[in-house]
This record gives sequence, structure tokens and C-alpha cells, in this order.
Amino acid sequence: MASYRNVIRKSSDRTCSQPPSNLKPSSSFKSKSTSSNVRRSSSGDDHLSGRVRVAVRLRPQNAEELVADADFADCVELQPELKRLKLRKNSWDSDTYEFDEVLTEFASQKRVYEVVAKPVVESVLDGYNGTVMAYGQTGTGKTFTLGRLGDEDTSARGIMVRAMEDILANISQDSDSVIISYLQIYMETIQDLLNPENDNIAIVEDPKTGDVSVPSATMVDVRNHKEFMELLRLGEAHRVATNTKLNTESSRSHAILMVHIKRSVTEPESEISAENDHSSHTGNTFKPSIIRKGKLVVVDLAGSERIHKSGSEGHTLEEAKSINLSLSALGKCINALAENSPHVPVRDSKLTRLLKDSFGGTARTSLVITIGPSPRHRSETASTILFGQRAMKVENMLKIKEEFDYRSLCRRLEIQIDKLIAENERQQKAFEDEVERTAIEAHKRVSDAEMNYADALEREKMKCQMDYMESIKKLEEKWMSNQHKYGNNGFSNGNHGGKGDQDVIELQNILQKEISLRKEAEEEIYNLRNSQPLSTEAGVNADVLKLKRLLDDETRQKQKLEQEVQLLQSRLSQLTFESGQPRHSQYEDQSNGDRTSIANIHEQVGLQKILSLLESEDSNVRLHAVKVVANLAAEDANQERIVEAGGLTSLLELLRSRNFDETICRIAAGAIANLAMNETNQELIVVQGGISLLAMTAVDAEDPQTLRMIAGAIANLCGNDKLQTRLQSEGGIKALLGMVRSRHPDVLSQVARGIANFAKCESRASSKGTRKGRSMLIEDGALPWIVQNANSEASIIRRHIELALCHLAQHEVNTRDMVNGGALWELVRISRDCSRDDIRSLAHRTLTSSKTFLSELRRLRIEI
Ligand code: ADP
Ligand code: MG
Repeated sequence: MASYRNVIRKSSDRTCSQPPSNLKPSSSFKSKSTSSNVRRSSSGDDHLSGRVRVAVRLRPQNAEELVADADFADCVELQPELKRLKLRKNSWDSDTYEFDEVLTEFASQKRVYEVVAKPVVESVLDGYNGTVMAYGQTGTGKTFTLGRLGDEDTSARGIMVRAMEDILANISQDSDSVIISYLQIYMETIQDLLNPENDNIAIVEDPKTGDVSVPSATMVDVRNHKEFMELLRLGEAHRVATNTKLNTESSRSHAILMVHIKRSVTEPESEISAENDHSSHTGNTFKPSIIRKGKLVVVDLAGSERIHKSGSEGHTLEEAKSINLSLSALGKCINALAENSPHVPVRDSKLTRLLKDSFGGTARTSLVITIGPSPRHRSETASTILFGQRAMKVENMLKIKEEFDYRSLCRRLEIQIDKLIAENERQQKAFEDEVERTAIEAHKRVSDAEMNYADALEREKMKCQMDYMESIKKLEEKWMSNQHKYGNNGFSNGNHGGKGDQDVIELQNILQKEISLRKEAEEEIYNLRNSQPLSTEAGVNADVLKLKRLLDDETRQKQKLEQEVQLLQSRLSQLTFESGQPRHSQYEDQSNGDRTSIANIHEQVGLQKILSLLESEDSNVRLHAVKVVANLAAEDANQERIVEAGGLTSLLELLRSRNFDETICRIAAGAIANLAMNETNQELIVVQGGISLLAMTAVDAEDPQTLRMIAGAIANLCGNDKLQTRLQSEGGIKALLGMVRSRHPDVLSQVARGIANFAKCESRASSKGTRKGRSMLIEDGALPWIVQNANSEASIIRRHIELALCHLAQHEVNTRDMVNGGALWELVRISRDCSRDDIRSLAHRTLTSSKTFLSELRRLRIEI
């Protein structure tokens, strides 16, 4: 709570200012005059002082005085411009008094209000207590000055009405309040003028602050001027009624109007703001608003003449005492205060108790003393003037009555907290949304990366395949040009001794290139796998599997390539060797020679005898005999006779012989192969355990021609629909596949023919429905070799294999193995590149009619 001594910052105070400080009292001034006793600020700004202000007002002569005092001069002379009053002692001498304001008989009610009361009203609105009081002899105009309602003449409105007008104009109807009580003190009793039944109101004093109040008085909350006017009228009516009832006059009682103003200050005072400047950005929001409580007391005192004249004018002693008591107590208090006496007898009367704050307290007090002009009342007038002079010496300690409005601060803080809670909730929600959005974004990026990775992998795979196809094409072209150079029969067309070596070197170079290409591809795949950090574990596993498969394919292709190169090398060395010397077709020549002699032998000794020679102890004899039989078997006409004569059995016996002679075996196998052209003979061979005999011989044989014969015999058996199962169970297929170790094209072409025959029969049986399940070729592990040789440089091998693949591919049961084994690529190649239209379209049909192939092709994005 701010407190100020002698400080009121109101410019309007100037209207009640002291005369200039350089104005000295004239020599005729009494020592008791204000000139020496009124305390003034040395700086001259005494309008800031909390001193009691006193104005003197002279009533105009009334009708009676106009007549009665016609011959007498007025006892007072006013000098308003000097704020002086001269009181005539006699016709030649007068006393001069200085007041805060000197108001002549012509002073308007408005001016009186502005000079006497307005500064006090403004202070009250600012949160100070304020008092406006009229003191004077009865009939001098106290009530006129304070209490005129101005019903008939609005310019006659007194201080009460005008003060209320100012107050109501300056308060806020929403946040401020104005509460009125109206009392009368008569014979030391406080009566409620707003409720006459309440006729003995007690004064209560706050033990802590010493503030006095009359809590039992009627308090009326006034909202507008009309309500106030009604209250004043009501109070006046009650005053008249009460006084009539008590057989007294209003001049014998003190009327007290109390106005309690409570104002809420929204903007903090500049001083307070400055103090808290460091916290202005946060502090102001939570600074409680200030409530200012001002109290305006307007006192219309009883006539002052009673002090002197009571008793002498026939009033009851008690009444006179009472009136005297309050007024004389007031006079004593003012005297004590004026003289800075340590004891002020405030408690002596009800009036002084009620006005405790107005004189020597914290209130701003303005006193108007009223006087009449009549010389007949000179002594009364003089006594009134003296009262005013003393009052001017009373210094108050003005104190603002304000307190912090913690209740409304609490409400504001609660609202603030609610706002923050709501804001926090909003931000929390926004944060969660953001997290969710980021997660979705991250997920999308991961799947994009995975998709990109898969695409890159696929592209790389395709590239590898294309490179591989390209290399194969080059090798094939090379082979074709070699074929062209050396002729299909292997005979040299010219001098090419050094050319073969050169070709070998070239082929080695190509192989080297292939190997490095493959290495690059592997590195690329490795890099792709490492550059896939976002892949999920499952994704990585799938990718690893894919890569593994890709690597397997690559490995197979590499092996195949190596085999092809080896094959080419061996072919070339053979060609080189053959071209280096004239081709000595010993076998052919010998055969031709033999054939003549054999025909002779046959004619000479007969078939039976020849067959018996096959079992001769002499291997030489056996050799010749078998040659004869083989030659006979080469001709269709002899075959039936040979079989009937037990020749087939004898030939098979030769294969069973423990003393393995490869030449005999080769020739026997050739004969068997010839006999195996016939379906009946095929079955006979099988019945006699021929499959396993041929298979066993294949294991022991080393000469490619021996193997060619055995493979040819088995290949013939493979073309028989009835022998499929036995060929598998007795090791025929495995024997065929085992013979590819020779790598001799003649052997390989027989193996390929056998496989093609087998696949064809098997396919036929599957189509008829007599057979179910996976191909026995696949079961016996033929697929890798098939795939490796599907694009064989030897066209005869290639054709057989292409057909075998098409047969296998026609049955859905084989397709998955084929896809896994890499056969799909070969089928695609066949469907695109095969020079034979029928095989090409068969491959195409096969591909488009299989679900497995179609979905795999879609996955690999291969158009066919
Ligand atoms: P008080 O209350 O002091 O006894 P009043 O206010 O009743 O005196 O005044 C007595 C009479 O004098 C009233 O008729 C009043 O109208 C008249 N009167 C008082 N002062 C003035 C004034 N300044 N101008 C004109 N008439 C006045
Ligand atoms: Mg009066």
C-alpha cells in the first residue's frame, strides 16, 4: 500500500491554493493570523500539502437584515483576490484574516463546489478518505452550501449533489461500487436518516488500524443519480420528521452523509510498474489488480452559536450540553492539533470519534465556514473565523486506501492455467501426429529403397544373362567358322597347322574375358547387397536366397562355358592332329576289308558255328567272330536270324565276361546297338539284363567309340515306351549320364539322343495318363547336363536337347524343377532363336501354357 505524506498530485488542487509565499501579512495582522502559523512548503508547492483547507463563505443579506441592518455597515469586508477577510472591530479598526478561499456573497454554488469540494472528491476517487464540512452560526448557509437539492433551480445544487454527480460520472458501473449511508448525531446519539427506527447506532473501531465505522447503519448501493436524489430527499424528510418528533430543529443536530467508493484499478500506477519492470513480460499478467477504497464524509454541523448561547436562550441543559459536547470537543481537538499537542481528545464525543480521520488523520479535509454580514452577530462571526483559522493549522497525513485484489487475480490465474492446459493438449496432439507422419514417411522410404534394390538386382541379373548369351553367340560363331575352315568331315581344306593354336589362344582369351565379366557381376551383386541398409531381416533373407540362386546359375554357366571351351579345345586338337597327317581311316578300310572276308566266312562256316566261336577260349578267335556277327547285325536282313540263333544272348554274354577286352566289348556293343533298332529285340535285351550289362560296360570303357556304341544301344532302348521304368531302375539313365565324362561329341550326341527319346516316351505316357509324377530324367539328375548342353555348339546335340526340354516342359509337374535348374532361360532362347520353326513354336507354346513359367516370366519381366 502506497503512503504519501502531504502529497496529492492533483492539478485541480490549485483552486484551493494558498496565497503566494512571498505575501507577508500586513502589520495589522494578528499573531494568530495564518501568515505565521500556516505551514507552507518552502518550495511554494504547498498545494501538495495534506493540511486542512478552509474557505470562508459570506451569505448575502436576507430580507430581515436588509431592513434591520440598513443603517449599519457590514462587519466583514472580503478581499477575495487576496484571499483575505477583514473583520471590523469598530469604525476605525479591523482584523485581517487569510483563508484558502474567500467566497463572497456573489459566489455561485458551482464555484463553491469546485473550490471547496471538488479536490476532495477527486482524492476520494483516487482512494483517499475525504471530508467536506460546513461550520457556522445557524442561518449562515451551511445547509444551503452542502445540502441544496436544486429542484427548482438547478444552479442552486449544493456540494452533496454535485459531488455525487462527479463520483457517478467517474466510476465504472461494472467493477466499482458506491455505497451511501446518511446519519444524524443528536444529543450524542447516532440516528439513521435512511431508517429512523435505527436510532442508536454504535461506532466500531478497528483495533488494528484504528479505523472507525458504523456497520449497523443502513448502506445503500447507489447506481445512478436519481437513486441518490431519492435517498437525499428521504434522509431530509426523516431529518425533519425526527426533529419534529423530538421537538427540536435541524440546526441542533449534525447531519453526516457517508459515501463509500470501491474502485478497481486495471492499469497499475507508473511507479509500481517501474518497480516491477524486470518482470513486466511475465509479472504483469499475474499482478493482482488494485482495489481502491475511498470514503467521502460530508458534514453539516449544528449551528455553532449554541456553544456560546446555549442555556441563555432557554434550551434544555441536557440538549445544550450535548450540542456543546460534540462541537466543543471538535473545537478542542482542532486546537490540540493546531498546537501540535501530544493529546487530542478525539474520544470525547461521537462527532470527534466519527471525524477522527478528518482532522489529524489520513483524510483530505476541506472546511467551509459560513458567516453572515450582520454586525449584530459580529461575535458569532468572529468565533467562526477563529475556528476556521485554527482548523487551517491542522495537518493531516494523507494515506491512500488501496489493496490488492487477490480474489480476481486467483480467477485470472485459473483461466490462464486452463488456457495453458488446453494449449499443452493441443501441442501434445500435434506432436503425436508428427511422430506418426514421420513413421509413415520412413516406412515408405524403406519400401521404396527395397523396391529400387530389387529392380537393380533384376537389371543386373538380366545384364549377366545377356552378357552370357552374347559370349555363347560369339563362341558359336567361332565354332561355325572353324567348321567351315576344316570341313564337316574333319578333313583339312588347306594348310592350317599353326591356325589351330591361334584359335585355341583366342578361345582362351574369350574364356578369360568371361571369367572377368563374371567376377564383375559377382562384385556388383555383393555391392548391391551391402548398399541395402534399410532392408528388413526377412527382406534380406529373401534377397540372399535370390542372390544365392543367381550365383548358382552363374556357377553352372561358368562350368558349362569351361566345358564348352574344353570341348572345343579337344575338337581343335583332334582336327589339328588329323590335319597334320593324311587321314588314316584304318577302321573304315579294315571294316571294308573285313566285311568281304566276313561274308565269305559266313557263307563258309554258317551262322551257328560263328556264334559258337564267340565263346571261344581264344580271344583272337572271339574277336574275329564278334566282328563277323557285328557285320551281319549291321544289315537288317540278318538281324532276325542272328537273334533266333541266340546271337543276342551270346553278344550280351561277351559284355558279362570277366576278362574285360574293350575291343571285343566295343564291337559287341555295336552289334547290340544295331539289333536294338527293333522293338522285339529291345525287349529281349532288357529281359536278358541288357540294361545293367550295358551300364556296367559303360563304367569300365574308356574308348569314346566303345562309349558311343553303348550309348547308342541305350538310346535305342530309350525310344521304347514299355522300357521306361526298367531303364531307370536298372541304371540305364544313370549310365547314359555317366558317359558324358568322355566329352566326345559322338558320345554326347548319343547321350542326347537317348535323353530325347526317353523324354518323348515319358511325355507321351504322361499325356495319355499312364504315367504320373515328375520326370525320371529329372529324378536321376539329368537336368543340369540337359541345361548345360541345350545350346551345344554341336547342332545335333542341340536339337536332341531342345526337343527333350520341350517334352519335359509340357508337364506342369516338371516346371518348378526346370525353373530352379535354369531350364527356363533355355526354353526362352529356343522360343526366340531356334532355327527350326517347329521346335521354336513348340517351345513358345510350352512356355505360354504353363502357369509356373508364365508367373516366373512375369516376375523376371521377360516378354516372350
Ligand atoms: P444554516 O443551515 O446555516 O442554518 P441555511 O442554509 O438554512 O442556514 O440558510 C438560511 C437561509 O439563508 C436560507 O433561507 C437560505 O436560502 C439562505 N441563504 C443562505 N446562504 C445563502 C446564499 N449564499 N445565497 C442566498 N441565500 C442564502
Ligand atoms: Mg442548516
